[in-house]
Amino acid sequence: MNAADPVTSPSASTPAGHPLAGSPDLVEAKMHLVLPTAPVTGRIVESRLCMKAKSASFVRHVAIDVSGTPLAGSFQAGQSFGVIPDGVDAFGKPHKVRLYSLASPTWGEDGHGNVIATTPKRLIAEREPQKPSDDPSDHGLFTGVCSNWLCDRKVGDAVQVSGPNGKRFCLPKNPNDHDYLFLATGTGIAPFRGFLMELLQGPPAHSPAAARWKPCTSRIELLMGSPYTTDLLYDDLFRGLAAAHPNFRYTTVISRESRLDEQGNPARGEYVHQHLERGVERDFGRFREFLGSPRTLIYVCGLAGMQVGIFHMLAKHGLGDGYLTVHEELAGISPHDWTPDQIKRRVRPTHRCMLEVY
Ligand SMILES: Cc1cc2nc3c(=O)[nH]c(=O)nc-3n(C[C@H](O)[C@H](O)[C@H](O)COP(=O)(O)OP(=O)(O)OC[C@H]3O[C@@H](n4cnc5c(N)ncnc54)[C@H](O)[C@@H]3O)c2cc1C
Repeated sequence: MNAADPVTSPSASTPAGHPLAGSPDLVEAKMHLVLPTAPVTGRIVESRLCMKAKSASFVRHVAIDVSGTPLAGSFQAGQSFGVIPDGVDAFGKPHKVRLYSLASPTWGEDGHGNVIATTPKRLIAEREPQKPSDDPSDHGLFTGVCSNWLCDRKVGDAVQVSGPNGKRFCLPKNPNDHDYLFLATGTGIAPFRGFLMELLQGPPAHSPAAARWKPCTSRIELLMGSPYTTDLLYDDLFRGLAAAHPNFRYTTVISRESRLDEQGNPARGEYVHQHLERGVERDFGRFREFLGSPRTLIYVCGLAGMQVGIFHMLAKHGLGDGYLTVHEELAGISPHDWTPDQIKRRVRPTHRCMLEVY
């Protein structure tokens, strides 16, 4: 995708004081209909790898049928749900719940809200001591409990689920009221799959949602960060949507592979916030105007800590207004001198910047 390609923006200049400069009016999301202490049984209906190519990491698209449970038809795109893996922990207690982002639009994978999907990544690491009694020389393989359990499940298997969870990482009631900057790393792409299917692709014809759905005409930018090209998730879907919708641009940002710079010379890979910073400095895609517009909402989802670079870049370029609240402790310090620790502790997102990191 060429980051210099122009994209359409129906109205990039909402006057200051306009209602859009305030809180976005997000859809009302139901929460905690099913508690992890009393989960309901869903059934796996699909499980497939969803990376672009063969990779050292394993990420699956897993769809679960929750029909006949209170979860059916109860999700909004952007929410998450709980999975309680079978078995017990080292203390003989049932495993605790883990949350997974909904990767589906509000009408689910099936158009009727009966099938929800998510994007679990197998957590694989070398063992490290967790408590003083653990053997420090043990570096055997540690496999995360729930992610591997979920990825191992076959079609037809039962899975205990709870939710819905979260109400802030949702779309506005009137999507055309805003423009969108979606920033993802890794499995943080999951909610954006749901959002983009909801905003651009639309429900299947048999869905009750089909009659009232209209494609979103706002400017939508998705920046997907990944260590290697092979690790991109749902890449074909996003390329297809970008080809079909001139108001949507999909940019992949690869951190551990070299790229070609503007002069066509090899350059180091970059992270999402670095790409965004180049976008603002060189103003490709009119990024400065886009971020300065009161219509724009920023959604950030992925690796814990990814927000630090993004917040720093916004503040350094004087674009934090509306997206960030800065603690008075930092008021007298130039954003250029802020440390990552200060940003983590003292800079918070506002109502126009939705953050889900884990
Ligand atoms: C709102 C939200 C949405 C999320 N959405 C997604 C999603 O869409 N997809 C996704 O894949 N994940 C998602 N997660 C993360 C998910 O909830 C789990 O945290 C993740 O799958 C890991 O769970 P696990 O049971 O496999 O790992 P656990 O078994 O819980 O291990 C957790 C951590 O403990 C460390 N650890 C524990 N013991 C050891 C040891 N002896 N040696 C070394 N390390 C050890 C592991 O490295 C790991 O970091 C989300 C989290 C939140 C909060």
